[in-house]
Amino acid sequence: GKKMRVDKLLSNVGVASRAELKKYCKQGLISVNGKVINNPGIQVDSENDEVMFNGEKIVYREFIYIMLNKPDGYISATFDKHDPIVLDLIDSSYLVFEPFPVGRLDKDTEGLLVLTNDGQLSHRVLSPKKHVPKTYYAKIQGKVTEEDILAFEKGVILDDGYETMPSQLKILKSDDISEIELTIHEGKFHQVKRMFESVDKKVVYLKRISMGKLKLDESLELGEYRELTEEEVKLIE
Ligand code: URA
Repeated sequence: GKKMRVDKLLSNVGVASRAELKKYCKQGLISVNGKVINNPGIQVDSENDEVMFNGEKIVYREFIYIMLNKPDGYISATFDKHDPIVLDLIDSSYLVFEPFPVGRLDKDTEGLLVLTNDGQLSHRVLSPKKHVPKTYYAKIQGKVTEEDILAFEKGVILDDGYETMPSQLKILKSDDISEIELTIHEGKFHQVKRMFESVDKKVVYLKRISMGKLKLDESLELGEYRELTEEEVKLIE
């Protein structure tokens, strides 16, 4: 496993700050492989050494994966000058791992957002070569028709001249306000909204419901999140 200072390991998992850990170490609260240590700077193997804090075994993880049901009004970024960001919704015990969102949802888009500190996974999922499918539920102003299904399957031209890849449109309800599900295999800026603009319709509500084979856990209320299981992490790509 990865070698690191024991105080770094403990602060990374959110036990306490490095300064507090120095104090706790003096108090004899930290042990490695069954022996109380008096130097918080000693090196440990994050997987193979048994680190205990205050009698509790510490399981070190390098990576964390979080599923957030993103609410309207939050920016998918790690910093913003004006608006609340999705990280504002996450508890500090997770923020110590420095997670960031895998891709972006618009400020007003809701639903599945994965946050992780696993840069390689994020890179693979977002790679334009991989075409990881993303499915959205949307409410559309105007009647969505069979014609739209065919147009989206063929590819439509966006306002900047870009021609979209084939996408799968499912009509749940065709009415003045229609309800649909759309699966796209790429992620252009405002893609779903712009695709509907290309057929003269307007997205009035947008929610991501899946990414790869990973589905949004519908028991999560808006703004709620939970860690992904190991199996779920594999479903993303
Ligand atoms: N398409 C959009 O238009 N907005 C999103 O947030 C995601 C996909």
